[in-house]
Amino acid sequence: MRSKVIAGNWKMNKVLSEAEQFADSVTGKLPKDDNVEAIVCAPFPFLPSLVEKAKGSKLKIGAQNMHSEDNGAFTGEVSPAMLHELGVTHVVIGHSERREQFAETDDSVNKKVHAAFNHDLTPIVCVGETLEQREANETMSQIETQVQKGLEGLTDEQIGSVIIAYEPIWAIGTGKSASSADANQVCTYIRNIVKNMTSENIAEQLVVQYGGSVKPATIDELLEQPDIDGALVGGASLEAESFLQLVEAGT
Ligand code: PGA
Repeated sequence: MRSKVIAGNWKMNKVLSEAEQFADSVTGKLPKDDNVEAIVCAPFPFLPSLVEKAKGSKLKIGAQNMHSEDNGAFTGEVSPAMLHELGVTHVVIGHSERREQFAETDDSVNKKVHAAFNHDLTPIVCVGETLEQREANETMSQIETQVQKGLEGLTDEQIGSVIIAYEPIWAIGTGKSASSADANQVCTYIRNIVKNMTSENIAEQLVVQYGGSVKPATIDELLEQPDIDGALVGGASLEAESFLQLVEAGT
């Protein structure tokens, strides 16, 4: 049985004091259940304090991006080693906002995924189609390219421990969520791609999340789907109470 993984993606929101308040409100209230994991992916400046506050609790702390190199002349960038030493456990890679606004490609995503494994970080790899691609019936081919290229060169064992977040771009921050059946169909497809790349066993281990306007009101229906193992949540992860409701839904 795969556990459910609820990851908040705060994007560029909050200041440190608000982030700390959030951690103080949730750490003591997270369900003890081992079947659900709770992660908050926060802006870089909050990470040391959040890791400290999350100690001894079920909350795990992730980053939203990183560079693929260990160090060097990359002004303004953050390395995987820096994140690992802080105690960060997860990192979002290839979010559509980064692909669209910061020129990330399947190739840079692949380099970052390898770098994450080299530094003991679990990558949350984002894939998803635009509205145009969906209307042109290109959803599955787009997803296939992103998954195959993003995971290229990994060992089977590494592929089995990646988290893939299926986030249709037209559903992110728009209030328009994919129906749970449509979301599940793509998540099943992703599991099949991974099965073809590895084995049935590995594909069964793979955690596939849905993301895009997930709310406490919609999470139950999504998690009831056989191939949806959790959610990557933006807006609804910002408030402690709503984040707790999302995690509770995974129990
Ligand atoms: P949203 O964002 O939940 O606000 O739609 C999801 C995401 O971008 O990961």
